[in-house]
Amino acid sequence: MQQNEAYLLLTPGPLTTSNRVKATMLKDWCTWDDEYNAGVVQDIRQRLVAIATKEKHQHHYTCVLMQGSGTASVESVIGTVLGNEEKLLVINNGAYGARMTEIADYLAIDNTSLNYIETQMPTTVELEQVLSSDPDITHVALVHCETTTGMLNPVEALAKVIKKHNKVLILDAMSSFGGLALDVAELGVDFLISSANKCIQGVPGFGFIIAKTHQLAACEGRARSLSLDLYAQWRCMEDNNGKWRFTSPTHTVRAFQQALNELDEEGGVPARAKRYRENQSLLISGMERLGFKPLLPTGQQSPIISSFHSPTHPGYCFSDFYERLKHQGFVIYPGKVSNADCFRIGNIGHIFIEDIERLLEAIKVSMPEQANA
Ligand SMILES: *Cc1c(COP(=O)(O)O)cnc(C)c1O
Repeated sequence: MQQNEAYLLLTPGPLTTSNRVKATMLKDWCTWDDEYNAGVVQDIRQRLVAIATKEKHQHHYTCVLMQGSGTASVESVIGTVLGNEEKLLVINNGAYGARMTEIADYLAIDNTSLNYIETQMPTTVELEQVLSSDPDITHVALVHCETTTGMLNPVEALAKVIKKHNKVLILDAMSSFGGLALDVAELGVDFLISSANKCIQGVPGFGFIIAKTHQLAACEGRARSLSLDLYAQWRCMEDNNGKWRFTSPTHTVRAFQQALNELDEEGGVPARAKRYRENQSLLISGMERLGFKPLLPTGQQSPIISSFHSPTHPGYCFSDFYERLKHQGFVIYPGKVSNADCFRIGNIGHIFIEDIERLLEAIKVSMPEQANA
């Protein structure tokens, strides 16, 4: 069975990976051998920093890989970088912003949030107000592409305000890193978080943090969790040429290195971003032709994932629609917006224009009769 042909994941992670990425997982790796630590782990760490910023800034940054889903990496950052007397502001317009607040609450870290509904874009005016009125805030966390809706938050403008106020900037770029151009040095990002199974197109199992080295170096002894101690993980990788403290997801890590090779082959982030944008504009125009309405206006929409209003036709039911599409080889994603009934379709992964064309055909025949009249 050709899995990729039988079953495309149009979801924002895990996503559809290439057969070559999957094939690299057929070998077992030793976690204390140099072939793995120096040849795979160190190579990945360097290449991720090189994706995150231009050469002249790279020596200010380091990269740490962390076992677990992307959330574990977010938790390792929040739990390691904030000192006991420090306070986190979370800019929240979706489930992933809300999750950062939840993490801070679990860890009993002082925090506050600037809350929006999911279809609202955060503004610098409100951020400026919060930062001016609450001098206890030391760190600000925000989400680049809020995968809840697909909204691309205005990270450049918000980062400018955060830096003007001299706050440490934590960016959840989970669903955008590698799929959208971004420069941590230009933005002034101190900690960027992403994971293996998003735009780099690897398989799930670990996340990674691109950190400003001098910021991370100041975090010794702060972590609230042993296994999620970002500082200790970094020191171990630095001092032992790429060694992880505890068992690493070796097959996933090796597959990720192959995924990085394929990102290079494709032409790097600009080429990948272009493919995602093309996938998405075809998807949106095709869906509009079929009578679907996107949740977000074009100007707010990221090329990563798109939300569509569910059809109001009485014969429509998401689970039937989902099953019909799955039967034709496409897995889509339910909606996650509190004030609108939606579903989502991801454009990221090993997905090409021909796939979107076939998807649109499948959607056309999967709707109840009158809905696509
Ligand atoms: C996928 C994602 C995460 C992490 O999710 P996990 O399920 O823990 O991997 C965090 N933030 C954003 C914006 C995401 O898209």
